[in-house]
Amino acid sequence: MAQLELLKINVAGEWRLGGGEEYESLYPATGEPIARLRAASLADVDEAIAGAHRAFLTSGWAQKLPHERASVLYRVAQLIRENAERLAQQQRLDNGKPISETRALVASAAGTFQFFAAACETLEETITPSRGPFVTMSVHEPMGVVAAITPWNSPIASEAQKLAPALAAGNAVVVKPAEVTPLMALELARLCEEAGVPRGIVSVLPGKGSVIGDAITQHPLVKRVSFTGGTTTGKHIAHIAADKMMPVSLELGGKSPTMVLEDADLDHAVNGVLYGIFSSSGESCIAGSRLFVARSIYDEFLTRLTERAAALRVGDPADERTQMGPLITARHREGIERYVALGVSEGGRIRTGGVRPHGQALESGYFYTPTILEGLDNRARTAQEEIFGPVLVAMPFDTEADLIAQANDSIYALAAGVWSRDFKRAWRLGRAVQAGTVWINTYKQFSISTPFGGWRDSGLGREKGREGIFQYMEQKSLYWGTNEHPLPWAN
Ligand code: NDP
Repeated sequence: MAQLELLKINVAGEWRLGGGEEYESLYPATGEPIARLRAASLADVDEAIAGAHRAFLTSGWAQKLPHERASVLYRVAQLIRENAERLAQQQRLDNGKPISETRALVASAAGTFQFFAAACETLEETITPSRGPFVTMSVHEPMGVVAAITPWNSPIASEAQKLAPALAAGNAVVVKPAEVTPLMALELARLCEEAGVPRGIVSVLPGKGSVIGDAITQHPLVKRVSFTGGTTTGKHIAHIAADKMMPVSLELGGKSPTMVLEDADLDHAVNGVLYGIFSSSGESCIAGSRLFVARSIYDEFLTRLTERAAALRVGDPADERTQMGPLITARHREGIERYVALGVSEGGRIRTGGVRPHGQALESGYFYTPTILEGLDNRARTAQEEIFGPVLVAMPFDTEADLIAQANDSIYALAAGVWSRDFKRAWRLGRAVQAGTVWINTYKQFSISTPFGGWRDSGLGREKGREGIFQYMEQKSLYWGTNEHPLPWAN
């Protein structure tokens, strides 16, 4: 096979080879390299941040009027749409998601730029009630250089979710994509450049998080980090942020409960539970990975769910009919296999899955079958720890009080699902469950206009929504004196 050309990274607007180690990005469905690049070096980090700082001060981006910045961001949205199919195919190769999913992610990235362009040009400052001879206002200013650190599971969507509001707010942004999925962030940087974002305002620094991500977080010129990833990494970043007195937003892990009550519409609930855990091969922070089903319908529900899970189409991500692609890496699949073995050693029974799928076409990729475990207690490690794969732990419940106690018994509190036809019960449970997002009679639906984030070990801060833009701004109060006379004290 012909040697792949080395990809360039973006250091303060300059496209060039990174100064770090050379590595390959692999197609998870075959294990074949699809891109070759050199990671950023620590010197690249310093140069990118210094360049971003300069661009923030001198490029005029921060000083543009909001509607002027918005018009550039609308253009980014348009360019994403014009390049949609190419981007969707590239993201499929980069992280192995089925093409139907990567198309949806690309569309959502375009929608995110459009939304924050609109938010930017319609943002209002507040005049607060005056309590003296002055007019008081609350305004927001851009912060300077901010960083976006993203995971590998939904690259273009996660990167757009940080880049669009941070740019709308007038900042310079340094993006550190996951080492294994560098392509989408680089593509977004190219589209931003083409749309007219000034040189140096966006940099993309692929490389190891523990080296490059850490150096970015520690850098004194970085005024905010927006991070999506694992809870351990999030806590590490929070410690650094505490020392720098730097605000952070942390979108972290989950072990989300889905609750199926005896009066649920079972057709809807079966589809919702399947989609909630097995779409994206379960590599989703909001995966509904703990299932609680009313004991009276448990057997019937599990039988239906198991049949449908076993029939899910696992395979070639390029096939439009594929429902589950491969896992991200061979190492990640091994981690999932260890969790399934742990579940069994804890007393769990495998209802379906628990193996790699057969078939030559799947042998070189990192595929795994949709897996349902039962017979475990909610306190079992398999029911408490985030597996980040297609593994569902199913448990019966007896009373509503017991259900809520178990659903809330987790260090995580990112999302939850309730399935019931009784709207009062659904409302009660929806309010009682502790989670950043609750879906009632649906699951894993998203809207850029609705804030998203977690409680407890699932994170800090919120992304999305109009307010999402304020995450990347400092608030300032202005007092504008209207005195007819000098201040009396000095008289
Ligand atoms: P990680 O925390 O390992 O990595 C996330 C990002 O952080 C990567 O870019 C990674 O780089 C980087 N990173 C790693 N170490 C450091 C460090 N010391 N300082 C700065 N950056 C660092 O998570 P995973 O990649 O394993 O992603 C899966 C996790 O992400 C799951 O726990 C999942 O729940 C969570 N997630 C949360 C979401 C949410 O919105 N709440 C959405 C999606 C995922 P590198 O690539 O080199 O490791």
